[in-house]
Amino acid sequence: MEFRFSEQEERFREEIRDFVKAELPPDWALGMFEEGDSDEEWAFIMSISKKLSQKGWLTMTWPREYGGQGASGWKALVYAEEGGYWGIPGTGMGVSGVSWVGPSLILFGTEEQRRKYMPLIAAGEPDGVWCTGYSEPNAGSDFANLRTQAIRQGDEYVINGQKIWTSAAHQARWCWLAVRTDPKSRSKHEGISIIIVDMKSPGVTVRPIRNYIGNHHFNEVFFDEVRVPVQNLVGEENRGWYQLMRSLGYERGGVAARSYGHNKRVLEELIRYADGQGLTARSEIRQELADVAIDIEVQRLLAYETIWKMSQGKAPTFEPSRDKVLNDEILKRLSTVGMDILGPFSQLRRSGRALKWFRDLGGVCSLYWNLIGMSSAAGTEFTQKNIIGQFGLGLPRSY
Ligand SMILES: Cc1cc2nc3c(=O)[nH]c(=O)nc-3n(C[C@H](O)[C@H](O)[C@H](O)COP(=O)(O)OP(=O)(O)OC[C@H]3O[C@@H](n4cnc5c(N)ncnc54)[C@H](O)[C@@H]3O)c2cc1C
Repeated sequence: MEFRFSEQEERFREEIRDFVKAELPPDWALGMFEEGDSDEEWAFIMSISKKLSQKGWLTMTWPREYGGQGASGWKALVYAEEGGYWGIPGTGMGVSGVSWVGPSLILFGTEEQRRKYMPLIAAGEPDGVWCTGYSEPNAGSDFANLRTQAIRQGDEYVINGQKIWTSAAHQARWCWLAVRTDPKSRSKHEGISIIIVDMKSPGVTVRPIRNYIGNHHFNEVFFDEVRVPVQNLVGEENRGWYQLMRSLGYERGGVAARSYGHNKRVLEELIRYADGQGLTARSEIRQELADVAIDIEVQRLLAYETIWKMSQGKAPTFEPSRDKVLNDEILKRLSTVGMDILGPFSQLRRSGRALKWFRDLGGVCSLYWNLIGMSSAAGTEFTQKNIIGQFGLGLPRSY
């Protein structure tokens, strides 16, 4: 077993660090702009997407004919780790463009769909930004309960219904939408399909939801007699549930390496701060930091295992869920330990004179504030544990 990256991969790591120095402002804060909460921030995020595209990094693992570089999963892992560590924004093309729209189109899409949508994402342009419409007011963990309908009329689907918590819907050009195409199906897991919707279509209304710390990250999206050509159906009609179970692995699988980079950086900042304040003289502080450091190392190894499995051409089943549960646990510990260490400074926000302190400590605070949301996004801890039980331990299924 050779447990290190190749020279080429290490050189690539250095190249990314040079990019960070050249392109991100020197006072770039951990966690800063993560939600792109103003037009100005969004413009900056998109400018970085464009530069990542020009470097050939944005969609590096995709095949060349669809705008990728055919890069290995290991090279992509180095990119994800460094991206998380330095907080490089603009890597996602909305919440879903890079991580699961492209890979899902390779698995289930038509050649026409691949050639139309994937190069748009790979170009890092606003027309390649996606949102994902899965959740509804009565369909979150119980995703198969979704009610939004797409009824076929001639060469079109007519869509009516509502989605909720749709991240980046206000910025997206396209929606990766889960709909019910057969309202009379025998079970609720059948009769679901995936349809691509142009967010500029008449009848689409996006209404912002501000989260409890005042950020505009997600939205409600309403569909009122929205007409979509049948060519926008992805994969087989009424088989959407089964397709999604595969493509959700990409959503959750992409989390681990970037999260590892992010968590490692937050830990390093905390250690630096605690040391500077003389707090590391206290044994309980040293032990809490050591505890979370162990978890972060475990996270690194599990992330590598998931990538290794994917690089062998095997589809991950329970591993992405396992990685996500572990990350949620680490975020809980890291932010709680962090808030203990920071004390009153933990209440600083990114504004005005507070910026100097935010730069050093803001990542921890923003982590704490976003903790509940982060652990629900892409499926809650209990949903993930049900998946681990079923696919990892061979226990009875939960639905
Ligand atoms: C930051 C953020 C971004 C998001 N972005 C998007 C997006 O872009 N697109 C999108 O479609 N959705 C998005 N979501 C929604 C997210 O997918 C849902 O919040 C999530 O699936 C949980 O659904 P829910 O909120 O309806 O909670 P519920 O499903 O109502 O769950 C409430 C609680 O009950 C528990 N629970 C439910 N069922 C079970 C069970 N069978 N066994 C054990 N416990 C159970 C859950 O774990 C949870 O603790 C986002 C959410 C957040 C927080």
